[in-house]
Amino acid sequence: MSVFKYEKDADGIVTITMDMTGPVNAMNAEFRTAMTDSVAKLEAEQGLTGVIFASAKKVFFAGGDLNDLLAAEQGQEAAFMEMLTNIKSDFRKLEKLPVPVVSAINGAALGGGYELCLATNHRIAYNHKSVQLGLPEVGLGLLPGGGGVVRLVNLLGLQDALPYLLEGKKVTPEKAMKAGMIHETVETLEELLPRAKAYILEQKDNPEAAVQPWDRKGFRIPGGNANSPKLAQVLTGAPAMLAQKTRGLLPAPEQILDCAVEAARLDLDTALRIESRGLAYLVTTPQAKNMINTFFFQMNKVNGGASRPKGVEPQLTKKVGVLGAGMMGQGIAYVSAVAGIEVILKDISVEAAEKGKAYTEKLLEKKVSRGRMTEEKKAEILNLIKPTADDADLQGCDLIIEAVFENIELKNKITQSTEQYLCEGGIWGSNTSTLPITQLAEASSKPENFIGIHFFSPVDKMPLIEIICGDKTSDVALAKAFDYTRQIKKTPIVVNDSLGFFTSRTFGTYFDEGVRIVTEGVHPVKTDNLGKAIGMPVGPLTVHDEVSLELTRKAAETWADMGVTDKWGEQKALNEMVQFMIGENGRGGRYHGGGYFEYGADGSKTIWPGLLEKYYNADVNICDEDIKDRLLFRQVIETLKCLQTNVLRTVADGNIGSIMGIGAPVWTGGFLQFVNTYGLEKFQARCGELAEKYGERFECPQIVADKIAAGETFQ
Ligand code: NAD
Repeated sequence: MSVFKYEKDADGIVTITMDMTGPVNAMNAEFRTAMTDSVAKLEAEQGLTGVIFASAKKVFFAGGDLNDLLAAEQGQEAAFMEMLTNIKSDFRKLEKLPVPVVSAINGAALGGGYELCLATNHRIAYNHKSVQLGLPEVGLGLLPGGGGVVRLVNLLGLQDALPYLLEGKKVTPEKAMKAGMIHETVETLEELLPRAKAYILEQKDNPEAAVQPWDRKGFRIPGGNANSPKLAQVLTGAPAMLAQKTRGLLPAPEQILDCAVEAARLDLDTALRIESRGLAYLVTTPQAKNMINTFFFQMNKVNGGASRPKGVEPQLTKKVGVLGAGMMGQGIAYVSAVAGIEVILKDISVEAAEKGKAYTEKLLEKKVSRGRMTEEKKAEILNLIKPTADDADLQGCDLIIEAVFENIELKNKITQSTEQYLCEGGIWGSNTSTLPITQLAEASSKPENFIGIHFFSPVDKMPLIEIICGDKTSDVALAKAFDYTRQIKKTPIVVNDSLGFFTSRTFGTYFDEGVRIVTEGVHPVKTDNLGKAIGMPVGPLTVHDEVSLELTRKAAETWADMGVTDKWGEQKALNEMVQFMIGENGRGGRYHGGGYFEYGADGSKTIWPGLLEKYYNADVNICDEDIKDRLLFRQVIETLKCLQTNVLRTVADGNIGSIMGIGAPVWTGGFLQFVNTYGLEKFQARCGELAEKYGERFECPQIVADKIAAGETFQ
């Protein structure tokens, strides 16, 4: 029996219900056979009045089979092209049938799923937020190669199609309707198929309904074709704007722009061929492999609970106590309340706590004013947050998250005075960004219930949480922190305790190396620009100004108090720089009135001349390649050390954590995946060169040699 159930009713309407063998309908070999067979049958069908594509799964259609795409290798482009040509030929036959073809979209239709919809004449979707539509291929380093680029450009016009193609925007049925991506919505699932059939019957005397807009006589692309004067003007600047965004590191957006312009210039069939060639090229690039591996497979692993202890039943958080209503605490209260969790928000005074709650009100108000939330919903969420200065209000919390000042004595004191209010088996989470969890847990009467829950700032926007297990942290505490993270819809990585955990520690090497390069005489602006050139969101000095040099100074003091003399390797240059910047010149970073840069009230940012006077030496000549590699390799090496010493428990956590928490360049697929595509031997050799030229910190961690000996990569 085919995985496409084929049923013809008394009105001559054929419904094809896709129910593939795997968990979702996907564009793989099974699909290709089923599609070819179905199209042939439809073409031969007598008395056909219309066709409906439906799905037996929750998701309408999931898109390309990423296992297939990951396996595609260089040299196989011709076979890949042929496969795409066959799929496209079936889609073309489908849209050329003499009867209306309708997609009945019951669930998400992304990528290949939406491409199938685009090859049908009429698209009806169930109006529900679980139904997402769009072409997100760009996020995996690919392009929609099943006709998506060409048909969307023909449907919406080049200018309107580009955001969906270049940003991979996903939309709800309501938005898709407004954008012209679908034709109708229904409010319940039960209405979907009857409405599709009714539509077909309504079109009995309308032969146009069976013809795609681009196949109609006299068709013109909305907004004009690529040669029209208005578009020509837009297109002149587009490649430059794109290059500024991708910094030339991502081939997919460039290919997409290329194919989209061709789609707005050439006939449909030629444009479809160019699109296939674009995908056949992209699918073998290391960038696509990295992105598919990390953003799809490893992300699913991480969010799916690979690092969650097995056999511990789900731990639902109902009432969370948030201690400290400062920058972090107010954000933690917000994301918790939005997830429907009751929040006790405590600070040293009710006024301070209320100020923290006002932050939630401000964020919700913005949503209401944009029509994205009702007043009732806003009130419901706000009602969940109780601001207080009274410890007793914490009574019965099943989770308390502490986000008070970064001071070990204060944190210890608070643990001792408030953990008694936790309910039986309740868990204590510290949001410390630098202090070791095992040491903080010593203040607790139940160190097994003590764990690190490290949020990133701004809490409402940053998608990652780093969960840190202390030596005594129990599986239940870990499961609780993990499930809470999923409850507030964030991605949890799980690491073992270490000074700076994984993210802060690795991130620190970025600005440490930036500072070293500057103290060696390289121009600071050049140093910053080369940081961006490798794909980091901002340069190392800019980022150090943002997180504040003051924080580095305070952290160094705390570590000295704790008896830690060597943080994670020698940091002489950083300490000297902090002494020069803060000690001698009072420049603690952007929020302290300025740091490496001067920040004007008009938003301007210029380098502080004192830095140039002290360090810049025009005679120093370190090649760009070395500067770029130094900035990247330091972070990669630190990540490898974390894996080697079991601070990182899995490769997936290292990749996802580096991208979502540190801002590792997306083209790398994360700092560990970077080593895989760079080549382990080549990486080892380059580390050797850098170590010889610039110092021991570049020596390649042993784990790379071990992997080479075992014939393995970082998986
Ligand atoms: P903050 O100074 O903005 O807020 C701290 C809050 O704690 C203040 O409102 C203060 O009044 C309150 N507080 C102090 N003593 C208290 C007590 N006894 N009871 C209740 N509240 C008390 O600091 P922040 O930036 O929100 O940082 C808080 C924690 O989060 C620190 O441990 C920090 O290391 C960590 N963290 C910060 C960031 C960041 O980017 N700022 C990121 C991750 C983690």
